[in-house]
Parts: sequence; structure tokens; C-alpha cells
Amino acid sequence: MKNLQTANEFDVIIVGGGAAGLSSVLWCDDLGLNAMLIEAGEELGGQLLWTYNQIENHLGATAKSGREMRDRFVKQIQKRKFLLKLSSEICEVNLKIKSVTLKHNEKFTAKSIIIATGIRRRKLNVEGEEKFRNKGIIESGKRDQSFVKGKMAVVVGGGDAAFENALILSETAKSVTLVHRSTNFSARSEFVEKVRQTAKINILTETVVQKITGSKRLEAVELKNLQTDESSKLPIAALLIRIGVEPNTELFRGKLDLDNAAYIKVDSIYETNIKGVFAVGDVANPFAPTLSSAVGMGATAVKAIFNRISS
Ligand SMILES: Cc1cc2nc3c(=O)[nH]c(=O)nc-3n(C[C@H](O)[C@H](O)[C@H](O)COP(=O)(O)OP(=O)(O)OC[C@H]3O[C@@H](n4cnc5c(N)ncnc54)[C@H](O)[C@@H]3O)c2cc1C
Repeated sequence: MKNLQTANEFDVIIVGGGAAGLSSVLWCDDLGLNAMLIEAGEELGGQLLWTYNQIENHLGATAKSGREMRDRFVKQIQKRKFLLKLSSEICEVNLKIKSVTLKHNEKFTAKSIIIATGIRRRKLNVEGEEKFRNKGIIESGKRDQSFVKGKMAVVVGGGDAAFENALILSETAKSVTLVHRSTNFSARSEFVEKVRQTAKINILTETVVQKITGSKRLEAVELKNLQTDESSKLPIAALLIRIGVEPNTELFRGKLDLDNAAYIKVDSIYETNIKGVFAVGDVANPFAPTLSSAVGMGATAVKAIFNRISS
């Protein structure tokens, strides 16, 4: 990335360096707009950094993993001109005057802001969840299939991701228990049927995880049956949490119109209720939350900004 821009005023400030943010940066450079990209993480890529499956449905490029696709995206923007701020925490954002303040009081302003902060996996918020992250709490069925070999595992959730991962883990695990808080599953019926037919997978409904326990590594989960109120302990070596995702919109709460699930509301050019502030990618709750949507939304928002600046 060529960090040629040094002034603190930009045409566009882009917040978030996933697919949507990277597409926005590419289009800004193509259309001659001075852009700055702020990424909270140490690396660009967003969800691509925690995608372990093959990507075969992004037109023009397939990849063995999210990271491989990310590398392609980053390679493509490497020679483009924009200011990149990695590991950058935003302390304050003023959407009316389009200003962003980072730690150490670095303040930047722009004509427009593009929010591309994406989503994150929802947590259980129970005791032990942080302590045993990567010490038995696994990230991905695909990536951790060999780790669970011959071991007992629990998958929490009732959607596609939970069912698909239970099936993947059951290929190597001794047994898999799928724990879900209700009796209704949002997973596709073919996944549910397949899980029901897999002898190694046991389903516990109306059950929640209360606590994750162990010494150095995860050793058990404490479960509670919501019907009977009874608690029980299940010894396991691996736990995978797939209870959905939530948008990274804390920074914008009370400042922008959000929907009931806290995603940012946008119009057909991805502009929010504040003129000059756009939201693209998963944070704007696209009908199809995919790489193609994220990339297309970024392009549309930048083109709208360009047209406004040049008219
Ligand atoms: C397991 C998995 C498999 C998938 N498989 C496919 C597939 O096969 N095909 C497909 O098309 N799509 C797939 N997707 C979906 C696709 O990856 C997403 O739709 C896409 O990556 C969304 O990109 P985004 O830029 O909107 O958000 P994200 O990728 O979530 O990026 C948001 C970025 O913003 C940063 N950020 C957040 N808050 C702040 C802040 N306050 N300040 C600065 N930066 C911030 C984050 O650190 C992150 O880097 C998959 C997703 C997952 C999780």
C-alpha cells in the first residue's frame, strides 16, 4: 500500500478492512478520490481471516481458504494510493462533520465516510469462554477436525453453521453433542435430517451451556435443561460455538438509524440517514451477505460519492 497521503483531510474515510472496505479503497483510487482506510485489526481481510472453507462462488477467483482469497484482494490493492491505518482503534466519530479521532488524538476529516465494519460471531457470555479460547474452544469444524479425533465434542447452536459443523466434526470425533436452547432449528432440513441419521451425533434441545470448566484446558461444560431446570456436567475436549453473528455497530449506536438487530439502515446507494455517510458489506445487512455483495456495495457507494463530488 502506498501511504502517500499525509494531510488529515480526505475525500473518503473508510472504516473496516474486510472485502467491502477493500473494494471501496480500490474504487476510490480508480476514481481519483483520496481515501484513508482504518482497520481495527492487525491485518486486512475481516471474516476472510477466519474462513477455513474453500471459496468457489466468487466470480473470477476461487481460493482454497479465506486467507488465500484475502491475499489476492490485498495484492490487488497494494499499488493503489491510500492511507492505511492498521490496529487503529477509533475513540470518537462525528458523523455530522465527518471526523474520526484515533488514539493519541489523531483526528481525520473527510467529505464522506464509508462504514464497512462487518460482523462478528456471537458469544455465549458464560464463565470460562475467554479462558478456554483455543484451549479446547475451537474456531472451525473444518480446521479443527484433526484436533477432535477420537474426542468428545459439543457444538452449540441450531442454525446451518451449527449443524454443518456437527457433521464435519462427527467424521473424526468419538461423539458430538449438539446443544440448542429451543426445539426449533433454523438449519436447512437436509442438514437436520443428516444429523439425525448420524449415530455419533446426539441432540440436546431446550438446553443451554452455563459454564465452561477445566484446569489448563477445557474439560467439561455445565449444561442446564430449560424445561426441568436441572443442571448436568458433560466431560468434553472440544467446544464449537455457532450461535449466530452480530454487527460491529457499537461506535454508531445513537448516531445512525439501525434496524432491530443493530445493523445499519441504508438506501439503494448504501447511504445512511446521514448524508455523506454510507454503510457497505455485512454491517448493512445485505440480502445475500457474501463477498460479491460486499464488493459491489463498496463500488456503488464510492461511485455515488464520486458523482456528488464531481457534480
Ligand atoms: C465461515 C465463513 C464462510 C464464508 N464463505 C463464503 C463464501 O464461500 N462465499 C462468499 O461469497 N462469502 C462467504 N462468506 C461471507 C463473506 O466472507 C462476507 O460476506 C464478507 O467477508 C463480508 O465482508 P465485510 O467487509 O462486509 O465485513 P468483514 O469481513 O466482517 O470485515 C469488517 C472489518 O471491519 C473491521 N472493524 C470492525 N469494527 C471496526 C472499527 N470500529 N474500526 C475499524 N475497523 C473495524 C473488522 O476488524 C474487519 O476487518 C463466509 C463467511 C464466513 C464467516
